[in-house]
Amino acid sequence: MKEPYLYTPGPTPLPDEVRQRLARPIIHHRSPEFATVLRRVHKNLQQIFETRQPVLVLTCSGSGAGEAGIVNLFSPGDTCLYTGGGKFAARWGQIMRAYGIRAVEIAVQPGRAPRVEDLAESLRQHPEAASVWLVHSETSTGVLADIQSLSEYIHAHSNALVCVDGVSSLCAHPCPMDSWGIDLLFAGSQKGFMAPPGLAFIALSDRAWQRAESASLPKFYFDLHAAREAWLSGTTPWTPAITTVCALDTALTMLLEEGLAAVHRRHARHSAALRAGLLALGLETFGAPPSHALTAVRLPSAGECFLRELRDRHQIVTAGGQGELKDVLFRIGHLGWYNEKDMLRVIKAIECSLIACGLPLRSGSGDQAMQKVYDAMVP
Ligand SMILES: *Cc1c(COP(=O)(O)O)cnc(C)c1O
Repeated sequence: MKEPYLYTPGPTPLPDEVRQRLARPIIHHRSPEFATVLRRVHKNLQQIFETRQPVLVLTCSGSGAGEAGIVNLFSPGDTCLYTGGGKFAARWGQIMRAYGIRAVEIAVQPGRAPRVEDLAESLRQHPEAASVWLVHSETSTGVLADIQSLSEYIHAHSNALVCVDGVSSLCAHPCPMDSWGIDLLFAGSQKGFMAPPGLAFIALSDRAWQRAESASLPKFYFDLHAAREAWLSGTTPWTPAITTVCALDTALTMLLEEGLAAVHRRHARHSAALRAGLLALGLETFGAPPSHALTAVRLPSAGECFLRELRDRHQIVTAGGQGELKDVLFRIGHLGWYNEKDMLRVIKAIECSLIACGLPLRSGSGDQAMQKVYDAMVP
């Protein structure tokens, strides 16, 4: 059988170089050889997070890093605000509640980005807020938040820590932790980093590290002080996902050879081109402003037939809608290792699937519309 083509916003496809690295013999995590790899990974992650702080590598998925942030920064009874409007935003509220934190949702309509005005009212009502949790790229709706403005506002009007879920934004969008005043930033290996699932990355500002001194929630495996101690000596407190760290090493080297700005531009081009292609076919995208990590699209009528065609005939794996958007959307990932040819393949498959299901096309030239955008935007 032919291998499926992944167009999901995590996991994302792996470059051949990364797959080859995965096939090498395993090395020991307390060896000088692994310390060299991990030190290089640490240094390269700092470049992608654009921070001078340690970026700690945890063996868990992105949600684990969020939970690690929560248990290391807060105490039971603390109030934390978090933006609504998406499944990932809601997850941070759920984890906080599980730990006895007063989690207060800032209402945001799904498909819209949180605005400063949305935050302002909640911050006025909760001057005691210990933190505000923001999702940079909300993967359930494909919407991008303006972290820079939100962070600036929060710092100007409160003492709350600015905590950012960068799981699907890092590598797709600039998210300079230090210059944007982000106090907690985390991401995961299976998203923009072109590596398999299994690792999460987390960094804390000086203020956040200070706050961590007095946080009383219980923690052991995810004690970030222990992780920071180990970081200083190029190691980890526990056995890490060694093979995934090695694969990540190759992927990070590739990303930085391409250059961070070029990587961001590549994602911007795929996003703009795909939207133009979908529009040409008569499909409607969802949410604004769009994240460059993925495109959320309103499911056409005969949605079941359409998705079956895409999956079974064209081996194109997309992501469905989540929660209340389950039968409303499908989501096309272009986060990570995609080139123009990959993106033209997906638009052609969408066109063929629409035709096969007897759905009307606005024009049969989605690929030409994409090509125009590619030609107009320099790589
Ligand atoms: C994928 C993702 C997560 C974390 O999910 P895991 O399955 O735990 O890796 C968190 N936030 C966003 C925005 C994501 O896209």
